[in-house]
Amino acid sequence: MKSDRSVPVVIVGAGFSGTMVAAHLARRGIRSLLIEPRDVAGQGTAFSTADPAHLLNVPAGKMSPWPDAPDDFADIAGEGDAFAPRRDYGGYLRAILDDAVSDGATVVRDRALSASKADGGWTVELESGERIGADALVIAIGNQPPDAPAYAATAGERLIGNPWDEQGRAAIADAAANDLDVMIIGTGLTMVDIVLSLDSAGHGGRILALSRRGLAPRSHAASDLAPVELDDVPAGDALALLRWLRDRSGAVGWRAAVDSLRPHTKVLWQGLGVEQQRLFLRHARPWWDVHRHRIAPQVAQQVADRVAAGTLEIAGGRILGMDPIGDGIDVRFRRRGDEAVERRHFGYVFNCTGPLHDIGRTRDPLLRQMLDDGLVRPDQLGIGLAVGDRSQALGADRLWALGALTKGRYWEIIAVPDIRGQAADVAADIATELAQ
Ligand SMILES: Cc1cc2nc3c(=O)[nH]c(=O)nc-3n(C[C@H](O)[C@H](O)[C@H](O)COP(=O)(O)OP(=O)(O)OC[C@H]3O[C@@H](n4cnc5c(N)ncnc54)[C@H](O)[C@@H]3O)c2cc1C
Repeated sequence: MKSDRSVPVVIVGAGFSGTMVAAHLARRGIRSLLIEPRDVAGQGTAFSTADPAHLLNVPAGKMSPWPDAPDDFADIAGEGDAFAPRRDYGGYLRAILDDAVSDGATVVRDRALSASKADGGWTVELESGERIGADALVIAIGNQPPDAPAYAATAGERLIGNPWDEQGRAAIADAAANDLDVMIIGTGLTMVDIVLSLDSAGHGGRILALSRRGLAPRSHAASDLAPVELDDVPAGDALALLRWLRDRSGAVGWRAAVDSLRPHTKVLWQGLGVEQQRLFLRHARPWWDVHRHRIAPQVAQQVADRVAAGTLEIAGGRILGMDPIGDGIDVRFRRRGDEAVERRHFGYVFNCTGPLHDIGRTRDPLLRQMLDDGLVRPDQLGIGLAVGDRSQALGADRLWALGALTKGRYWEIIAVPDIRGQAADVAADIATELAQ
């Protein structure tokens, strides 16, 4: 395939991951071209929110994107232990991208549709029809959106698939203006965001947030550090690890126990082997997620206040079906541990069921094509792409993947404190490869 222009490195996706690879490459004097369909590049899913109520869920002191300058963001945010608005972090990332652009990076507002091997490198085809040639290709497209639920086909337009697009924002505004009852499917971080957005818009209706287990993110709180040596943690056995975690939580508190595993997560995860990893995902993942990925205390308080006021219920259960009725939607569901079927009317239902867990079902055009053509392959669990220890896609030359796409290999690779090191390493690896 003949290319229209060529650059040393093409990076698909300009969220945190793609932006930081471009920034590190620029520091090394290597030109890159970032492809990003969003209006504003550099912020990705998490940091493009305009709502000041949406706070970082990691304190500023741990949010530096630079591994070698750990206080870079805290210096700007003012306080290291504060939870800054995510839009401020988005502005900060945008400035880093602007610096990279001044030093040789280019941003193209477009979507990558396909990639093919060419002349020892890659050709990437864009939605606009343009073809870009590159010596190296980086895929940094983040978490994949979930499958549409089976009942979506008949649910009508009051079921909101993406709460942050124009239709989603209008639904939040309408629900708030008319105090409509709202259902949120999913009880994770996006549920929290919607509750905050409804709150800031003055919503006085009731909210029911439903997920299979009804587990919601826990709050950050001051806790003493209780570091452990890797040798003191059971390896290779998921249930033994969970028992250890329970006992240690009893001794030092669950926050300190969970956090003490952080420096060892990659080694522990890889030491589990595929069967034990599956076991962990099946039985412990929801529990791990809500304890490990916590929310700012003031956000947790806001959620708790709504629960106490009776305007927010977070419950376990299963949706059985939905029907558009009048100006809203009727939902049939069963609560966890209860056979009775409930039927309730909501003004809107927001689908926030979290990322797709089966990478083979991705609808991203580039990833779909690369999987179908065998250019990349799923990891051992099918939750991301198979990559080697340097985040290079297995079986392909000069191809790297970052962030959530590599969670099968690294597990904890979905937030800034983990991805920042990976972005620096990938840029260093690209520099080494291109020098050969
Ligand atoms: C609600 C929420 C809050 C969070 N809060 C925090 C926090 O406080 N602190 C923290 O450390 N982490 C937080 N995270 C985790 C966050 O996702 C990561 O920290 C990080 O931002 C992930 O960045 P990414 O670039 O890997 O993915 P993304 O941010 O998803 O970026 C991927 C980009 O790729 C683009 N893209 C996708 N497909 C294509 C294509 N075919 N062609 C071109 N471009 C494409 C997308 O448009 C997108 O901009 C949060 C996540 C969520 C969902």
